[in-house]
Amino acid sequence: MNIEPCVNSSFSKGSALVPVIALVLVVILLPTAPGLAAQTYSRSDLVRFQHRIVDYRSRINPRFKKRVRPKTRLVIVHTSELGLKSTLRVVSRGKRFKNGRTTPGGHANYVVARNGTVYRILDKKYRADHAGLSMWNGISDVSDISVGIEFVGYHYAPLTTSQYRSAGMLLFILKGAYGLQNKDILTHSQIAYGRPNRWFSENHRGRKRCAKNFDRIRAGLGPTWPFDPDVRAGRLTPDPMLAQVFYSAPGAVVSTGKKAPQALASDVISKQNSAWAIAGEDYAASSTVYVLPGGKTLAGDRVASNWGWDRLPAGTKVLLNQETEQVREQAKSTIKMISGRMTAWSHAGGAYHAASTIYFLPSGRILTGRLISDWDDLPSGTRLVVGYKGPFNVTKYKTAYGIAGVKFKDPGTIYHIPGRGPVPGNRVPNFSDLPKGTGVYLPIAG
Ligand SMILES: [Zn+2]
Repeated sequence: MNIEPCVNSSFSKGSALVPVIALVLVVILLPTAPGLAAQTYSRSDLVRFQHRIVDYRSRINPRFKKRVRPKTRLVIVHTSELGLKSTLRVVSRGKRFKNGRTTPGGHANYVVARNGTVYRILDKKYRADHAGLSMWNGISDVSDISVGIEFVGYHYAPLTTSQYRSAGMLLFILKGAYGLQNKDILTHSQIAYGRPNRWFSENHRGRKRCAKNFDRIRAGLGPTWPFDPDVRAGRLTPDPMLAQVFYSAPGAVVSTGKKAPQALASDVISKQNSAWAIAGEDYAASSTVYVLPGGKTLAGDRVASNWGWDRLPAGTKVLLNQETEQVREQAKSTIKMISGRMTAWSHAGGAYHAASTIYFLPSGRILTGRLISDWDDLPSGTRLVVGYKGPFNVTKYKTAYGIAGVKFKDPGTIYHIPGRGPVPGNRVPNFSDLPKGTGVYLPIAG
């Protein structure tokens, strides 16, 4: 591990070598000048960071066979496309597919939660089964030569500042441990490839969208590959969208925060953002659910037969890793609930931290999105409404009708009744008997 401080104390000797050393230093430092690429950490920072890593190794599925990786050439970052609990379960215990097939777990060495907490899933020396069908610079099966890190979040939603802070230290430590360079840190989307499909007649990039939003500068990383070596060598066909994300900038310092077109940072289908661009190989999976603008839901494996890929309208939302029934149930109701795989992000998208997204916690607390730092902080059972204002309190002088007008009995008018949580207007049994403290929430649009 390389945790020596960067400042060279032999400078003070005042020999004629100093200008030479200074020149060499300038030359070394120049390529990393933009951004904060040359980030270093003090020994105590790193020790504290290591102590705070949560040891999750005992949760690994006993069916998983530990194997020491003979060599380590890369670190691959992923976005889990799930909330924290589901992420920890899947990477430790394994995945279960609809056809009953299961995997034995061990799908990452580390998980980084949205609040920055790092979990050690599998000792870094062991091979994690994280990259799947993959190739980089002519070497296939990248899991054999890489450490895998899962960031809790979605590839179309920004990672948090806390995640980048932890990523910076974790990557710094791993680079030191294995003698790796900035260019050896890559995203799963960069190294995954797919077999021919309806879009590509040859082996191709673009099978995964995983971590395409990973901002290298925020993670303290400098320049990376300015091109895809396997595409250049003719081994793979490029994916136009990934090529734009990763290889269009001079110097290829990928900082998705500012330059990524809005459409590419979204889970909503548009002219520029196809089902393939959002879901990659999972576009037709039963666990990918399409929510049409009217609220109709379709599982990915039903789109071709029941609807047609070309007929998916702009504005269709794409949710990964979902149960269709659960999404269908939720799509129908104004009051959404956080549970299992349905996170605040799956319900509200980028509005999860808007002041107009109102969260009703099981404890009875009510918070607006502006007060939420992270969807993983919200307990299962939390309910929410999106695009609302309030509360307007029912009093002796202000009745429900006085607040909501003719819409006071509408399902879209939400009552927060103390002890009962949020209730839609059509489910309120008795308006003349609303208890003290009842608040009314009204939709902002209409
Ligand atoms: Zn991945």
